[in-house]
Amino acid sequence: MDLKKKKERLLEYYRHSKTATCKEVIDAFMRVPREDFVLPHQRDQAYDDHPLPIGHGQTISAPHMAFIMCELLELKEGDIVLEVGAGSGYHAAICAEIVAPPNCTNPGHVYTVERIPELAEFAKKNLAKAGYADKVTVIIGDGTLGYPEKAPYDAILVTAAGPKVPEPLIEQLKIGGRLVIPVGARHMYQDLVLVEKIKENKIIRKKVGGVAFVPLIGEHGW
Ligand code: SAM
Repeated sequence: MDLKKKKERLLEYYRHSKTATCKEVIDAFMRVPREDFVLPHQRDQAYDDHPLPIGHGQTISAPHMAFIMCELLELKEGDIVLEVGAGSGYHAAICAEIVAPPNCTNPGHVYTVERIPELAEFAKKNLAKAGYADKVTVIIGDGTLGYPEKAPYDAILVTAAGPKVPEPLIEQLKIGGRLVIPVGARHMYQDLVLVEKIKENKIIRKKVGGVAFVPLIGEHGW
């Protein structure tokens, strides 16, 4: 089966299972070529619903995770987004399609931090090839410290699992902003936590499901 058919079939499955309910995320999924963000010999697996290795012991998350996180964040055109854990750059591209869709008048931007320099380079190359170089900025560093230079953010997503929600990320979230992060064990099985900042020094935390992510390594991580 060709990749286009596989992608359509996966979307059908997500619609049926109610994983895909938001039009903006569905449009973004259809526009971003996931096959350009996986290793070349795994292109034919780009629309299988599981994570794939990208080297350095890291993975590109399963495509349903991009749906779940983006829907929870309620991203919209114009949003300024911080991602911790660029990996392949795929999730950042999905966010960019939502916050800065083609021909929009009020484009947002995505800042994505990656601690492994080789992966930051991988993400940068993939994003440039797929046409997102001007909508996504890749930064090398410890994302548990956030990226204060462009704070505050409308939305923050962390695509690695920490022992707790890093305090700098809460500080760098706008009032009314949303943050998603897997919190729990270092290896295997964590809770996906949604944090909403309702006013300065006041957040609401909600567990929204079970997940299995690679560890968040850093000053406010493991
Ligand atoms: N969002 C990615 C994608 O679309 O391909 C998948 C990310 S992968 C599951 C998690 C990434 O988080 C890895 O690339 C890992 O190196 C990175 N990471 C872990 N701790 C980090 C930290 N403190 N700062 C930045 N990146 C970190």
